[in-house]
Amino acid sequence: MTVLDAHCDAPSQMYRLRDFSRDNDHAQVDFPKMKRGGVDASFFALYVPASKEPVPAREYALALLAETRRQVAANPGSVRFAVSAEEVKKNQSEGLISILLGLENGTPLLGAEGTLEYLYEAGVRYVTLTHSADNLLCDSCTGKGTWGGLSARGREMVREMNRIGMLVDVAHCSDDTVRDCLRLSRAPIAYTHGCCRALASHRRDLSDDLIRGIAREGGVVGMSIYPPFLSDAFVRTLEASGLEEKAKVEDDFIRNPADESAARAWFEVLDELAALPRPGVEKVVDHIEHALVVAGEEHVGIGTDFDGIEVTAEGLETIASFRLIFSEMRRRGWSEELISGVAGGNFLRLLDLVQEAR
Ligand SMILES: [Zn+2]
Repeated sequence: MTVLDAHCDAPSQMYRLRDFSRDNDHAQVDFPKMKRGGVDASFFALYVPASKEPVPAREYALALLAETRRQVAANPGSVRFAVSAEEVKKNQSEGLISILLGLENGTPLLGAEGTLEYLYEAGVRYVTLTHSADNLLCDSCTGKGTWGGLSARGREMVREMNRIGMLVDVAHCSDDTVRDCLRLSRAPIAYTHGCCRALASHRRDLSDDLIRGIAREGGVVGMSIYPPFLSDAFVRTLEASGLEEKAKVEDDFIRNPADESAARAWFEVLDELAALPRPGVEKVVDHIEHALVVAGEEHVGIGTDFDGIEVTAEGLETIASFRLIFSEMRRRGWSEELISGVAGGNFLRLLDLVQEAR
């Protein structure tokens, strides 16, 4: 079995001065925690905020890439980059955790000619087309509906991604964008991190119809562990707690991560969030189970969103407890073959399929 997390925001935290070689307090991901959690591979997303224009967005993505490369290079005994299922398995056989790369938000691709090819050469293997707002490529599920799906440039970009073998990720996309990608893409697509709208009404979650569409074309949906995606009850708890307002102190920490008082203020809010009643591992597996029923066994994986979320499902506070998800699947009597596909096999196969479709 190969355990793969299809989405986390580790590069953003590296950029905020977290040393991944250490076991850090108030960190959801670092290399020691990945090791303890039995994680064999993880997609580190170069996440670029929706507020950035193409040129600064590209610069920012490249800065995240440089910092990720620096920290991976500094830890040759624990991690190594990978770009394919074959490389992941080779690293695994040598006892190394594979770091794969994704780009979250396609805006940097418009910052300079040839950026898509450049990032592919640098090892990036998926692009999440947008983030929290509509961008020049497409509409976001939390945007205004600027284009009614993919823009003309977005359609061009999807064709280009198909041509070079870059996986199209529709997490954060509007329903119309997902439908456009399904119609247009020659290769199967992914939804790397989110949950099922049939079980929770968050706009980031995916309808059964779209889950079915992605699976029918050979794609994979990755289930997240973020409480607001998992449970409407948690959304109400969070609203009533007043902590969303308090959580704005994260901005000070992001602006100046070296400032100890800014870090302390943010960590205090994280502790308060963690004290809220939260959905647990069972709820995560409920979403996985629902996705399996709708999509079929070969089309579901896990994309936690660790390091991009301020609160996690209970019991899954860090990547070190990742395997609790598989324990819950075994408790429900699922076969090892099924668990192995969800744990990582399905996303690894998708990576190969996108290469074959070039
Ligand atoms: Zn995201």
